[in-house]
Amino acid sequence: MEGQIERIAQWIVSSKRVVVFSGAGLSTESGIPDFRSPGGVWDRYDPEDFYFQKFIASEASREKYWKMATEMYEPMKKAQPNLAHLAIAELEKLGKLDCVITQNIDGLHAKAGNSEEKILELHGTAMHVTCLDCGKRYDRDEIQERLQKEVNVPHCDDCKGPLKPATISFGQSMPERETQEAYHRSSLSDLFIVIGSSLVVQPAASMPLVAKRSGAKLVIINRDPTPYDDMADVVIHSQAGPTMASILEKVKKSAEKRMEDRRC
Ligand SMILES: [Zn+2]
Repeated sequence: MEGQIERIAQWIVSSKRVVVFSGAGLSTESGIPDFRSPGGVWDRYDPEDFYFQKFIASEASREKYWKMATEMYEPMKKAQPNLAHLAIAELEKLGKLDCVITQNIDGLHAKAGNSEEKILELHGTAMHVTCLDCGKRYDRDEIQERLQKEVNVPHCDDCKGPLKPATISFGQSMPERETQEAYHRSSLSDLFIVIGSSLVVQPAASMPLVAKRSGAKLVIINRDPTPYDDMADVVIHSQAGPTMASILEKVKKSAEKRMEDRRC
């Protein structure tokens, strides 16, 4: 694995447009349960009840939704960025990150220090709440406080419209700007690094393919095999945190060496 890590580090140093694509594996390493796994939220709630169309349709569905959403939010609120999040934030500081495209809704890339304009959240974010009628945005914690004290279903201060976490629910379309931008950045990248995604949730999972077809090198770091392993230039089946920390260390060493060489 040492040789693979060295190769990835060298590619990061020599590439001009490094795009990182992150998924649920990154969140689970920060202690956030994978909602799709056995014992997860979807074992206790019926996903059918949480389609966007149902949310729109009745106050009773919204109440159910908020109960489930509150349960999902608790571990996210407490979670801290892990070594992989921190390494990705560090890549930005080194000027080596074009953007991070994420399927995660936990806000941990921002918490780790990546700037907002570098993060493309394909499934929205659980850190904010939006009014479905007027689009007003609220901080999630503020709304959770209301749910704890006053109401079962929160409504907009301005227009009384229904409030919903700013995540993309079943039956809700992907955010247009983020999705287009993510495809565009993927097609321009020269190094595409998948971290902690099993690449099964479409259409996001097709982005590595877009990058690869446009000539990017493809790196996959994921605990389990993915459908794209065969076309990747390097695959590492391991934890994201320690792997990214080792890669970052080598990137930094190589950057220092370049500085020294220039001085000589
Ligand atoms: Zn409103």
